[in-house]
Amino acid sequence: MAVERTLSIIKPDATRRNLTGKINACLEDAGLRIVAQKRILLTRERAEGFYAVHKERPFFDDLCDFMSSGPVVVQVLEGGDAIARNRQVMGATNPEEADEGTIRKRFAENIEANSVHGSDSPENAAFEIAYFFDDGEIVG
Ligand code: GDP
Repeated sequence: MAVERTLSIIKPDATRRNLTGKINACLEDAGLRIVAQKRILLTRERAEGFYAVHKERPFFDDLCDFMSSGPVVVQVLEGGDAIARNRQVMGATNPEEADEGTIRKRFAENIEANSVHGSDSPENAAFEIAYFFDDGEIVG
């Protein structure tokens, strides 16, 4: 089992409902270590840059509006198979399809306001971590 790092975001619907600690506990209980973390407000432009791979999708504008609508907590998670493990603890994109006990099943409001983001591949994890953090800000 390779030790990996992945980028996680606690989204505005969750920070608004004061769920940062509960979500962090889910991540830590799943064996992931939070090795970097900061609470920031994304500008619309920074949200667009982060989600550039989705710019042709019909929900791109709504998604960028939502992600810049309130504070987010960006984090680097570290652990064995961290990318897949985080995707598992997050649950399916649509909370109605998410497994019991996952973060999205427990906390998401709908398919867009679904409480958390997690990188879906090693390539995307590397891009997304570098999008928010310098090497010196990550302390393993
Ligand atoms: P993820 O990897 O599970 O986050 O899902 P995607 O990469 O497919 O989509 C990125 C984000 O776009 C999701 O987490 C949602 O916030 C949002 N999203 C995905 N599908 C839809 C949709 O059909 N409608 C809307 N409004 N937002 C969506």
